[in-house]
Amino acid sequence: MADDSIAVVDLDRCQPDRCSYECANYCPPNRTGKECITQRGEDAEEGGPDQIRISEEICLGETCGICVEKCPFDAIEIINLPQELQDEPVHRYGENAFSLYGLPIPIEGQVTGILGPNGIGKSTAVNILAGELTPNLGQHEEPPGWDAVLDAYRGTELQDYIREVRDGEVSVARKPQYVDQIPKQFDGNTRQLLEHTDERGALDDLVERLSISPVMDQAIDELSGGELQRVAIAACLARDADFYFLDEITPYLDIGQRVTVARIVRELAEEGDRSMLVVEHDLAILDLLCDNLHVAYGEPGAYGVITSPKSVRNGINEYLAGYLDNENMRIRPEAIGFEQHAPRTVSRSDPLIEYPEMEKSYGEDAFSLSVDGGTIREEEVLGIVGPNGIGKSTFAKLVAGKLEPDDGEFETDLEVAYKPQYIEIDQPMRVDVFLSSITDDFGSSHWNTEIANPLQLSRIMEQNLNDLSGGERQRVAIAACLSKDADLFLLDEPSAHLDVEQRVLATRAIRRYAETQDATVMVVDHDIYMMDLLADRLLVFEGEPAHHGHASQPQGMRDGMNEFLANLDITFRRDERTGRPRINKPGSQLDRQQKKQGEYYYA
Ligand code: ADP
Ligand code: ADP
Ligand code: SF4
Repeated sequence: MADDSIAVVDLDRCQPDRCSYECANYCPPNRTGKECITQRGEDAEEGGPDQIRISEEICLGETCGICVEKCPFDAIEIINLPQELQDEPVHRYGENAFSLYGLPIPIEGQVTGILGPNGIGKSTAVNILAGELTPNLGQHEEPPGWDAVLDAYRGTELQDYIREVRDGEVSVARKPQYVDQIPKQFDGNTRQLLEHTDERGALDDLVERLSISPVMDQAIDELSGGELQRVAIAACLARDADFYFLDEITPYLDIGQRVTVARIVRELAEEGDRSMLVVEHDLAILDLLCDNLHVAYGEPGAYGVITSPKSVRNGINEYLAGYLDNENMRIRPEAIGFEQHAPRTVSRSDPLIEYPEMEKSYGEDAFSLSVDGGTIREEEVLGIVGPNGIGKSTFAKLVAGKLEPDDGEFETDLEVAYKPQYIEIDQPMRVDVFLSSITDDFGSSHWNTEIANPLQLSRIMEQNLNDLSGGERQRVAIAACLSKDADLFLLDEPSAHLDVEQRVLATRAIRRYAETQDATVMVVDHDIYMMDLLADRLLVFEGEPAHHGHASQPQGMRDGMNEFLANLDITFRRDERTGRPRINKPGSQLDRQQKKQGEYYYA
């Protein structure tokens, strides 16, 4: 085959006992007697179904692709690699398995970011840099070992770092991507989890700045997602390491908390000779956090490429534009753009619900919420913003009629479909079975167009819910919510664990759904770029979390962003080239000027 093609077989999907080797029966080289698609032989010895292997030498490449079409389980990918990838991969997991090209470069005293989709090899790269995985330079049959790796990187910026890894001299601290898993691995309270991590004598400061004190004596399995995230970040940053790797810092945190974490990570890097590597999909935070950025691209599950470092501004701009300048590479057919001016504020649609001024308190000295009366309209996406613990869910329950206001003067029988922030669908049930139990529309062309396709569900339909990754689980939960028969759809943090591409696709799905189904959607989210792309109007919450909250009337995007960001004391400027919003340095000239003008976002 063309030298630059690879064949990838997903062994979790290949089930020869259910397909009678359709791929091999139709493969043109096989039909002329060549051994292109063959049986591995390994599994049959153990009495299992014998999965396939594909000879990359014989295979005709992507232009043939017959086996890809024939496989009923989507197990095969045949991919022409970009011509630029002439080198051998850094690592290939095995024959017809995922391969990784390029490595990020940790730099002492700096925060390095990686921006790219899930499944593209970011964790593989980090496992290599942490010394936990010895890269095989693509030679999976006879891995050449660290000395050969060092030879391969001689004369590059990674040489010294790789030598230290080989010699076991690099100490690593990691924050895992899915904090939801921590309670399954640790049985105890926050204090017990954190006390072993305090290698720098910095724990008290971290606990204070990340507001962990109130939950120090709480059991880990009773913490909320946002609390777990902050505890996990503190546990990682309290260590005394050369290399810190943080896999997503923003899920379940509000903007104020995101900005605080970004500042703490930056300070730790600037203190001295530590290198920080961060994977993050909230672009406003990534921008604020990093000194330089690697973009990752490729074909999730098949191959991934990590580019040379770029400036943060160029890296994000090129990523959004879908075109990498230095690499001369298109990574997406179209660009992702932002509204430079606030969208129009007048909506002509009918009211779905008018609610009066309301008060709700959970008891004396407990949390209380006051709500200004307002209107929610049909066909709109109403963005809900404000810190955690400020009463957003309480408000949603009032509107849904699940809670009564203190004076009892509001009744409603709206049918509300709800996607919680923290998704617990840990049943051993297949995705298709789960979704078809929710809607009779399941599988109809209408449902596929509106829900399954934009949320990229087809490849995971046959998987079990408890085998899904965080991003897959999120997409299933959004689909389940939108598939319900309801008047009002409430999505709490749909962006959590989605990569940037998936956030954009989910945004489109939600917006389209509101328009075509005459549906009203309320979305709580802390990713400001996603809110910008998603919301028609904003409902702003302010106050003192866990004590009292106040919701003003739903308002237009400009006024809403101004009120919300004024509470946070954060202004955004526009990138000159792309119009992308960027957080201003506090106290900079633009920051002061915009605050004076009261223009926090659409300046
Ligand atoms: P990311 O961190 O970008 O989500 P990963 O590095 O975790 O990506 O994984 C990249 C790809 O490598 C995935 O498709 C995964 O299935 C595959 N992979 C990861 N570990 C192994 C392994 N031990 N053997 C074979 N394939 C693997
Ligand atoms: P948000 O959705 O903005 O995070 P919530 O409406 O969930 O905020 O909660 C606001 C505050 O009310 C929190 O401090 C929470 O602990 C408290 N709270 C929520 N539900 C109850 C309840 N049933 N009883 C007592 N306090 C509650
Ligand atoms: Fe055979 Fe064509 Fe599949 Fe290659 S792409 S393995 S030649 S069927």
